[in-house]
Amino acid sequence: MLGQATGPFEAVIGLEVHLQLKTRTKIFCGCPADPFGAPPNSQVCPVCLGLPGALPVVNEEALDLGLMLALALGAQIPDRLLFHRKNYFYPDLPKNYQISQYTLPLGQGGALPLGGRRVRIKRLHLEEDAGKSLHLEDRTLLDLNRAGSPLIELVTEPDLKSPEEARLFLQRIQALAQTLGVSEASPEEGKMRADVNVSLRRSGEALGTKVEIKNLNSFKSVQRALEYEIRRQTEILRRGERVKQATMGFEEGSGKTYPMRTKEEEADYRYFPEPDLPPVPIREERLLAVKARMPELPWAKEARYLALGLKAQDAEALAYAPAFSRFLDRALALGLVSPTTLANWLLADVAGLLNERGLALEETRLTPENLSRLLALFERGEITSRVAKALLPEVLEGADPEALVRARGLGVVADEEALKGLVEEALSALPEAAKSVQEGKLKAMDALLGYVMRKTRGQAQPEVVRRLLKEALGVG
Ligand SMILES: [Zn+2]
Repeated sequence: MLGQATGPFEAVIGLEVHLQLKTRTKIFCGCPADPFGAPPNSQVCPVCLGLPGALPVVNEEALDLGLMLALALGAQIPDRLLFHRKNYFYPDLPKNYQISQYTLPLGQGGALPLGGRRVRIKRLHLEEDAGKSLHLEDRTLLDLNRAGSPLIELVTEPDLKSPEEARLFLQRIQALAQTLGVSEASPEEGKMRADVNVSLRRSGEALGTKVEIKNLNSFKSVQRALEYEIRRQTEILRRGERVKQATMGFEEGSGKTYPMRTKEEEADYRYFPEPDLPPVPIREERLLAVKARMPELPWAKEARYLALGLKAQDAEALAYAPAFSRFLDRALALGLVSPTTLANWLLADVAGLLNERGLALEETRLTPENLSRLLALFERGEITSRVAKALLPEVLEGADPEALVRARGLGVVADEEALKGLVEEALSALPEAAKSVQEGKLKAMDALLGYVMRKTRGQAQPEVVRRLLKEALGVG
């Protein structure tokens, strides 16, 4: 539909992503980095308030987390970093400048794998967050708790081709950040925010005029804002007019973009090196130490899952769902169940139940041990998949699968379909006894019953087996 709407034009999309780094303290002072829920303006100090004479100190952990993300994406790391002042006036920016990076950022280049392509990363840099403005009817309130929280900004090359792809890219970056543990990357808490830019061009032509859309707070908003903006630009170009360079906002309610302030040119920011922070050398040993801390990357997980025999779609889905892949890896380490059974159940039944209940995997009491034990019963043929599915909700709430099966007699022995199979087996193994029963010698039934009871290790209910034998033999 979208392809048709854009007619002869193709979309060229780039993203700017801000992630809040998961450190204990802010980027240049000792205040808590995550003051969520604290009273307004209680988590501040002279440094993050920008009081005269206060001196910033670089948070080494923020630097390491930033380096880890840059290394994971294959970016070039310079041998020293530089911090710059980006000057602009904004009420929730108490210093009237932001400490950011300009020349010599944390990383340059690199790429994120996406659907067989590589989306190129232009640069990554560290910077401090601003405070928050709360606009009331007749006044604006400021909360500076967030001022100075550590951010990493990641800028892509304009390599994305559709709103869906932009959304998928953000989901991938989120999964990567969460897998690495560098950020909670939760848009709903403002710990992941995106700006997008989009232009249209005829295939093969030079890039068109780009429009930027700022402050998108969810992946869904990114996709909707891009869809709207692509339609808007298509209409302008169809009329033979030109798209004006602009910075737009996005209104959730109407699903429309609207023009915002005209964007500052780079020169307006009067970048200059931060005089209070000397250049930070990045030595080889530091990079090696960060690499040593780096967990397995999602695309390496995907390859490993494929090698275990998982379907391509399942391997990808699990590798980019950090909670699921952690769970799967712990279950795989137990070795009780085959990888494909685990993958199938996690993605279908477990995911379905979580969805139904609006829960995240880690919010349940499901453990890799208990899921493995439940599925092992099923794989060994001791319970049917129907019984396993029926027990899953309770196992999700922390119940012990074997205890449930025992207490309720739910072993395969109580499953009539399974018992019927054993009855058929008994009739062909003991044809003489079967014939005798049909001739009215009911005493011969004991041999057949005994056969089925042995096969079920005595767990079947004899009345049920007796009834099934009678039904199979057509005797009353
Ligand atoms: Zn502070």
